[in-house]
Amino acid sequence: MNLKTRKQFGQHWLRSEKALERIVAAAELQKCDRILEIGPGTGILTRCLLPEVESVVAVEIDRDLCTNLVKKLGKVDNFLLLQGDFLTLDLETNLTAFPKFQNPHKVVANIPYNITGPILEKLLGTIAQPVSKAFELIVLLVQKEVAERLYAKPASRAFGALSVRVQYLAECEFIADVPAKAFYPPPKVDSAVVRLRPRQVQPEAIEPNKLDTLVKLGFGSKRKMLRNNLKSVIDIPDLTQLLEQLNINPQVRAEDLSVEQWVTLCNTLGMIWKPLDPPDPT
Ligand code: SAH
Repeated sequence: MNLKTRKQFGQHWLRSEKALERIVAAAELQKCDRILEIGPGTGILTRCLLPEVESVVAVEIDRDLCTNLVKKLGKVDNFLLLQGDFLTLDLETNLTAFPKFQNPHKVVANIPYNITGPILEKLLGTIAQPVSKAFELIVLLVQKEVAERLYAKPASRAFGALSVRVQYLAECEFIADVPAKAFYPPPKVDSAVVRLRPRQVQPEAIEPNKLDTLVKLGFGSKRKMLRNNLKSVIDIPDLTQLLEQLNINPQVRAEDLSVEQWVTLCNTLGMIWKPLDPPDPT
């Protein structure tokens, strides 16, 4: 195995059978599955996936690792390797010549932790602009601290803007803890496996752009009451009254509202929401 690692690519090779088993089980693999893997590295996870599914397309940025992967797995006919940066790569265009790998509907990956946020955004989109074709299921090994924020419940320590943004787009579940020693070289942080199932939350935001802004401003200053964080866009007495109508304590903080409550609040703001950009008078 090639153990040389490049720090800038967040390379830590998973070497725990137990962790691999948990990831694979969480993916609920079926023979008809088309999988997308981000950062296959030495191919340890890829090898577990290949015999179970129809196809695996993997995107790896590191040329040397790609050369190795081609040597090892190049002849496996349900494996396709794309060399490039997952964040900028246009998957659909790259797959036009490979029908068997098109439209992967599950993602299974031990991702580079330094780009977790951008990867999540590419896989899910944003509140204002969800991806047009959502994945059915996404299983990721991520930094424990990020994992905790993804599946956090309202009013818990880890619940923040990221929790609302991601949970608006997907149901998030904790699967398993993975200690730092499960990797070589061990990262400085512990990890966890999470499973995301993209879905349309109910109720839906009527104006997703507004919800995006509301969440951003609402979480602006930690420990402040929501109504203080939002005072530039909603007058405090107006918001107090609306929160009371919605049976929410007017002294609530951003981290106490569930995703459904954020949406309901956004959908019922009506005229009390003062737009940030006043309409052009011309
Ligand atoms: N899946 C492997 C490796 C995980 S380390 C394992 O479990 O052992 C993260 C991997 O992502 C590395 O192989 C790294 O080269 C790759 N990587 C880092 N940035 C990337 C990017 N922007 N696009 C695609 N792959 C990337």
